[in-house]
Amino acid sequence: MSTAEAVIFKERSGQIHRKGQEPFEMDCNRESLAGAVSQRACVFCGSRVVLYPIADALHLVHGPIGCAAYTWDIRGALSSGPALHRLSFSTDLQEIDVIFGGEEKLYRALTELIDRHHPKAAFVYSTCIVGIIGDDLESVCRRVAAEKKIPVIPVQSEGFKGNKREGYSAACKAMFRLVGTGDTTDIPPLSINILGDFNLAGELWIIRDYFKKMGVETVANITGDGRVEDIMRAHGAALNLVQCSGATVELAKMMNESFGIPFKRVSYFGVEDMAQALYDVAEFFRDKDPGIIERTRQLVKEELSVLYPELQKFRKDLEGKKAAIYVGGAFKAFSLVKAFRLLGMQVVMVGSQTGTEEDYRDLHEITDEGTIIVDDSNPLELASFLKEKECDIFVGGVKERPIAYKLGVGFCDHNHERKQPLEGFVGMLNFAREVHCSVMSPVWRFVPRRKEKA
Ligand code: SF4
Repeated sequence: MSTAEAVIFKERSGQIHRKGQEPFEMDCNRESLAGAVSQRACVFCGSRVVLYPIADALHLVHGPIGCAAYTWDIRGALSSGPALHRLSFSTDLQEIDVIFGGEEKLYRALTELIDRHHPKAAFVYSTCIVGIIGDDLESVCRRVAAEKKIPVIPVQSEGFKGNKREGYSAACKAMFRLVGTGDTTDIPPLSINILGDFNLAGELWIIRDYFKKMGVETVANITGDGRVEDIMRAHGAALNLVQCSGATVELAKMMNESFGIPFKRVSYFGVEDMAQALYDVAEFFRDKDPGIIERTRQLVKEELSVLYPELQKFRKDLEGKKAAIYVGGAFKAFSLVKAFRLLGMQVVMVGSQTGTEEDYRDLHEITDEGTIIVDDSNPLELASFLKEKECDIFVGGVKERPIAYKLGVGFCDHNHERKQPLEGFVGMLNFAREVHCSVMSPVWRFVPRRKEKA
């Protein structure tokens, strides 16, 4: 029995697959196993990460202070203007509120905060205890919206009612209440909305700039560097581009049904996927503006002529090194597998918190024999996979970082705490540089496990 097999709970065995085993079958999109300490966050946290980057909105967490503290400044989510989103407000529910209800406290908190900060809209998040005591968020929000003349939107994100995916869904439903309420008269025909990018380290500005060079206007960023008024007029765009499919594809589907806006799934990570995203948009607008194809080709050519020679320098050292990936949505994992391949590295483990059967089937297609594919994993499993596969680097988010460092494995943050943009062509260069720095660091020589082997 391998080390990895020794720590897999029997109930979870269907959520782990080693490429080469036949047939390919993956259980996924199911509730996390109780007691397995899933890496997933709760429903409330899922909605908070999606809505959080709307920078000129008030975000009020209706619940105990712990829920707000847990998600305070949860992502870098840079803003080019207001930064109200970076403050964490909570109604700080106490025992007395649980017994007698928290609606009046919520009303007082909302009115005071709106008077003090003058937000363009307010989002009110429901947490576990609010779901249990049954406070009527909808009616309090309606009352305050009428009094203060701004949208006040309840987010039905009671933590216990499902997994992180339900939180994404609650966030999409909340945002959809804004869409369709703004003026669209000055939006040009070549226009898009960017969905599913959270501008953790300024990526959105890189991507917007590419589209601008192609002659395409971005109407709304949903939600990185987001603005309430942009989302209100987002229904005037000709196309929705959806990255991080789990988080915002539901909003794209709702906009498609109600306003007839088509959507395309894209990724801005890695060279191939970034270029493909630009070409997909160019192709979409080809009839309206035939010149867009040539402009896009030229843009990609110029970017690659700078990028490729630089990548070759890193590739020399990284060739043959092993990488493991564990991310929130599987879509990012596809791009990362391709990005590592471009650096000459081998992906030996790849997994996600919220992938679908289709996602895992696609990952199975593009990975090498022996690669471990895992859904909704936990620290014990991940640690044993890293050891078994003798990985040189682990790519993940804030919860994966300690697993890597405790084992003496290099780490690349591809989520909340990132300070370098990793999207776009320039992002690929940043990624390669960061991977190179981490993998080639001399510090790993002093890790006891590796010293024993030497
Ligand atoms: S909503 Fe519930 S599960 Fe989520 S942080 Fe609050 S108490 Fe915890």
